Amino acid sequence: MSNEKEISRRRTFAIISHPDAGKTTLTEKFLLFGGAIQTAGAVKSNKIKKHATSDFMEIERQRGISVATSVMTFEYRNFLINLLDTPGHKDFAEDTYRTLTAVDSVVLVIDSVNGVEEQTRRLMEVCRMRNTPVIVFINKMDRDGKNRFDLLEEIEKELKIQLHPMTWPINSGKDFKGVYNLDAKSLVLFTANTKATEDDSIVIEDLNDDFLNDKVGNNDANILREDVELIDGVYGKLNTEDYLSGSVAPVFFGSAINNFGVKELLDTFIKIAPEPLDRETSKRVVKVEEPKLSGFVFKIHANLDPRHRDRIAFLRVCSGKFERNKYYHHVRLDKDFRFSNPYSFMARSKDIIEDAYPGDVIGLFDTGNFKIGDTLTEGEDFYFTGIPSFSPEIFKELVNKDPMKTKQLEKGITQLTDEGVAQLFTQFGGNKKIIGCVGELQFEVIQYRLLNEYGAACEFRVLPFYKACWLTSNNQKKLDEFLRFKQQNSAEDKDGNPVYLAQSEWFLNTEITNNPDIVFHFTSEIH
Ligand code: GDP
Repeated sequence: MSNEKEISRRRTFAIISHPDAGKTTLTEKFLLFGGAIQTAGAVKSNKIKKHATSDFMEIERQRGISVATSVMTFEYRNFLINLLDTPGHKDFAEDTYRTLTAVDSVVLVIDSVNGVEEQTRRLMEVCRMRNTPVIVFINKMDRDGKNRFDLLEEIEKELKIQLHPMTWPINSGKDFKGVYNLDAKSLVLFTANTKATEDDSIVIEDLNDDFLNDKVGNNDANILREDVELIDGVYGKLNTEDYLSGSVAPVFFGSAINNFGVKELLDTFIKIAPEPLDRETSKRVVKVEEPKLSGFVFKIHANLDPRHRDRIAFLRVCSGKFERNKYYHHVRLDKDFRFSNPYSFMARSKDIIEDAYPGDVIGLFDTGNFKIGDTLTEGEDFYFTGIPSFSPEIFKELVNKDPMKTKQLEKGITQLTDEGVAQLFTQFGGNKKIIGCVGELQFEVIQYRLLNEYGAACEFRVLPFYKACWLTSNNQKKLDEFLRFKQQNSAEDKDGNPVYLAQSEWFLNTEITNNPDIVFHFTSEIH
């Protein structure tokens, strides 16, 4: 198959949700449709159920699951779909944000009972930053959820996105009767536990047909007629361009656990979701159909076996064709590497592959050469932009408990931060190592892994910071002065970029006002 054909059949996306909305269940149904798995229950949730302070075994187990489910590739109607997994737990939100840089679109799952939740809001913010096309799946319609119109209004308001219903539900909870496909003008009646491949939609050319009354009863038939008239009037037909530009999100109603409404979602997804797109780099836009390879690392996974420190770097291919055993240019290190065992991830088993195309995500064996954001090319020097670090929310000083193991600690913390587990800042004028994380759980992971994989014991001392802001200025003198003056609150990140650590929102706002020559950034491009 030609490169163009390979590209046009690829769809690379992620399912995102607040924990418990049904991401794992929906993933599983997609894989069933794709024939990638045969039985329900085959996809294990990657979520950390409890905030188990000492439950390190759980963390280890989760790491095992999360490498296995990082990418799930399956075929559906001749499309090759790469589904990238994202951790639901908020302490690992940064991992999710980075994964979103490697996809071309997302499916956002919302629980019809709980509506918009905290993580939904944050994830949507990241999608908006990148104008990522979003399809919304309103799940758990078999439960007594919120009123469907209220729900749409809540989502539009809270997530600041315009919605466009593609299907429309008839009731919810125990009275849930099914969904009407507004585009295909067909009705799918709800039956619990529908088999994956069953196609039982009833085409209704005219909603006024009595046939509808026979199927759902007079009352519900009339309500559906009214609803549909209203929706048609308000929304009209979906303009795919609006979806692709990230300004309108098509909405589906269903019940993932009952495999209901999922097929409608998947069929529309392959029709409208974007194929791999051109990407911005530091030098120019890289066109997806360019013959030369380019790609970037967005995730690094450490080996579970502490005796081997090999890691797997996940590379998103952006242009050209990746070939096994061919030399590629590692831009940051200015060195060429070749890979004899690149993995692809067909449904939970890792297979060594010969080649990969734009949209694909491959796993590269790494002995410590990669960090997040690294770019591979066929010689050209550029890096992909838009792979930011987000300002951490909890800051602690890393304290070495065993001076004999200083080297191991240094190496360990460098590698863990390369993996993106946390961010490392070094205070100016001192050597204080400051670890910034999104959640408490990450500190536990770091402490545990430093000891188990590097033999280095550490503890953490809480620091009174509230946010880290990356600083830039056209006036270098002013910036240097500021950093000198605010030494206690200044540090550099791993790449030597200056960072201001604010004690509180008030301090931060004051500094922003007092220093008009300095720009305070809440995210950093990694480079
Ligand atoms: P995740 O945390 O988003 O991955 O959520 P899961 O897929 O693990 O689902 C969370 C819980 O909701 C599980 O107990 C599922 O069985 C349940 N669930 C998922 N989809 C549905 C649904 O359509 N209806 C109902 N009633 N429960 C569902």
